[in-house]
Amino acid sequence: MDISIVIPLYNEDESLPELTAWIERVMNTHQFSYEIILIDDGSTDNSWNVIEQLRSKNSNIKAIKFQRNYGKSAALNEGFKAAQGEVVITMDADMQDSPDEIPELRKMIIEHNYDLVSGWKKKRFDNALTKNLPSKLFNAAARKMSGIQLNDFNCGLKAYKLKVVKCIEVYGEMHRYVPVLAKWAGFRKIGEKVVEHRARKYGVTKFGWDRFVNGFLDLLTIFFVGKFGKRPMHFFGLWGTVSFLFGLMIFTYLSISKFFLDKTGMTERPLFFFAILAMIMGTQLFLAGFIGELISRNSPERNNYLIEQKIGL
Ligand code: UDP
Ligand code: MG
Repeated sequence: MDISIVIPLYNEDESLPELTAWIERVMNTHQFSYEIILIDDGSTDNSWNVIEQLRSKNSNIKAIKFQRNYGKSAALNEGFKAAQGEVVITMDADMQDSPDEIPELRKMIIEHNYDLVSGWKKKRFDNALTKNLPSKLFNAAARKMSGIQLNDFNCGLKAYKLKVVKCIEVYGEMHRYVPVLAKWAGFRKIGEKVVEHRARKYGVTKFGWDRFVNGFLDLLTIFFVGKFGKRPMHFFGLWGTVSFLFGLMIFTYLSISKFFLDKTGMTERPLFFFAILAMIMGTQLFLAGFIGELISRNSPERNNYLIEQKIGL
């Protein structure tokens, strides 16, 4: 199969018929063999009925229905598990992404050997203040922390090699950082393509203000887990030791000063409290690292590595 199109949706019954018809049109023009995997993320509107009707007319349409709303990441993850096409495309159900981009995205994966190609909504049709500006800051932070030079991490329209989606797990609200997950899994050829973005035709956006808080925390998590997840002591142990030694040095200085030099009382000097604080914090950090290390030793994932090839085994 040439292409799997994975589409998470939450209350998008109005868009679905038009969207699937458009995809069908594009697929037929290019004679691709394809599947459309619709993941109904616990919709409370008519989406599932619409999907059943669409499926009765086109057997390339497949669907999964969640019992309740789990979020876009969960939906993508299930879609990725089910996908079979050589190239996997993800797109939003709200018709903000154009299916006309699919052939070009596929070409970049197949002919130019990209592992992942992310869409870039260079010209956006969203609210400038609540979406476009924060998203600029957001992308700058993500670029800095991940080292991946993408302008638009969160674009719903992306293309992957099948292997990539089988190697990564999207959970929580990590759908914003799939390129980072891919990079941690060892897929380094990540590209970008300017894509057409359109105004939402039906329905309303499903993400509110909390997207920024959550998005930022997720960025920290992903960075931290990727870098120190398998060796927490290297982070906490280092800073714990630094902090403890720093406190100890100040303490030594205060002691020498009290007993041999000016003989002022230790507790009268603000530095004393600083020294204590640094030593306590150092011990805490060290302990956190040690406990983290014990936990990761017991984790069933501790020796899971993604193996690309083997010879003679
Ligand atoms: N979505 C989903 N589960 C959710 C929230 C959103 O499957 O809990 C889907 C939604 O139906 C759409 C896509 O994720 O297909 C992107 O959502 P939306 O268009 O609301 O985000 P925006 O474009 O405003 O960033
Ligand atoms: Mg949208």
